[in-house]
Amino acid sequence: MKNIRKRFYWSLRFLIFLSISLIGILSVAVVKYGIISSVRDQRIKLRQNDIASQCLIISNHITDYDYFNNPASEMINSEVMQLATMFSGRILILNKEFKIVKDTFDLDVGKSDISKQAIITFRNDKTYIDYDRKHKLMEVCFPIHKKVDSKEVTGLLMIAVSTDSLEETINKVNQKANILLFIFSAIIIFLAFFISIFLTGPINRIISHLSTLVDGRSSDELQVYSFKETVLFSDKFNLLFARMKSIDESRQEFVSNVSHELKTPMASIKVLADSLLSDESAPRELYIEFLRDIADEIDRENRIITDLLSLVRLDKKAGSLDIKQVNINEMVEEVLKLVKPLADDSHVDIVFESFRPIMAEVDKIKLSQALMNLVENAVKYNNEIGWVHVSINSDHKYFYIKVSDNGIGIPEDQLDLIFDRFYRVDKSHSRQINGTGLGLALTKSTVILHHGSIKVNSILGDGTTFDIRIPLVYSEKIIVV
Ligand code: ADP
Repeated sequence: MKNIRKRFYWSLRFLIFLSISLIGILSVAVVKYGIISSVRDQRIKLRQNDIASQCLIISNHITDYDYFNNPASEMINSEVMQLATMFSGRILILNKEFKIVKDTFDLDVGKSDISKQAIITFRNDKTYIDYDRKHKLMEVCFPIHKKVDSKEVTGLLMIAVSTDSLEETINKVNQKANILLFIFSAIIIFLAFFISIFLTGPINRIISHLSTLVDGRSSDELQVYSFKETVLFSDKFNLLFARMKSIDESRQEFVSNVSHELKTPMASIKVLADSLLSDESAPRELYIEFLRDIADEIDRENRIITDLLSLVRLDKKAGSLDIKQVNINEMVEEVLKLVKPLADDSHVDIVFESFRPIMAEVDKIKLSQALMNLVENAVKYNNEIGWVHVSINSDHKYFYIKVSDNGIGIPEDQLDLIFDRFYRVDKSHSRQINGTGLGLALTKSTVILHHGSIKVNSILGDGTTFDIRIPLVYSEKIIVV
């Protein structure tokens, strides 16, 4: 990983540059090669056709003038010489015994040439054409018939033509094509360079913006709106950043809340103890009353610490669950009984509705605490003379707990956030209501440890409903819910 950061050739810019350059240059080179090969093939074919048609004319003349019985024929000999000069090649005329009767180089007259191509042409009565590119030599072997219309082969016309001039022309075309290839390659490299800068520019802008955020030099929103992807990235990043900022603010507020919550009982204990110490003649009843108050404050302190510890413990996953068969109806009733005094104080009515008796494998203490958080919230964040409705139901696989209230509700854009630790909606308002922002985080962790799910629906000013679904049978395996 560390090395990649230093390696220029692993940068996106370099890889884009390299890919475009390679693909572009290779494509142009392949096209060039294809064009040159087809030009060469075409030229060779033309030359071969040209030679074959000239051969046909001469072979007809040889037949017409009965050349094999009259090899001194001026006309045929000069025609053959002209053709040899025209193609800058050598022409041999062979009779049916494969004996050379005419050689434009005058080297092998009277000798025999029983080459493979001579035999093939003689036997098959077909023109034999061969191109030896290495030696730049084109060989044509053409049958001479006894009579113009007959199929009987009476001799052969063999032409060996040098293709130097043809290859030279093709080389010149090739050279021009190479210059074009070079120019195109330069253009492609130039374009690839700018395209790679254009495509990676936004990424670099993102990186430099993130660097300013990391260094604390800026806290502006990320706004790299060059491509669809960078727009999406910027939007998602800004959401994440806003969320992190808000969590951080909540965390700071939580720390001060917790310190405050922890200090308040301590301060009360100190005041109570000091006043007893300063008044040595205080009656026994006063001692007992103050000591009772001190014990209450210690209980309160304990509750706060327990809450914090529960959250830490829940983080350590399912190992901490104490799963047993539990009567859910009874469990809910017990929770509601505990919340009743708080509800009565706030003039909130709690209604419980059970559709059937439910037995399920759960950790009773933890689930009771989770449910208690929901019901307490429904009471705490309620209006004067409000109601809370708790119902339970089940099917063959799950049981369901629904907690509804007609309280103050939660703004839609904060519904996702309320399960975050330390998150409290409308902090100024919430401050008047006791709480640390840990309750729903605890509830959600507990439900998830039971492989269940929790959902919330709320309308601001109208009320809130929490729905919990938990499997009736606890399984060690993770169940996707
Ligand atoms: P707290 O200790 O603040 O109650 P919770 O985690 O239990 O923390 O809840 C987080 C926030 O969600 C609360 O501060 C409150 O703003 C909001 N909330 C939770 N339950 C309700 C509800 N039933 N109605 C309205 N707001 C709620």
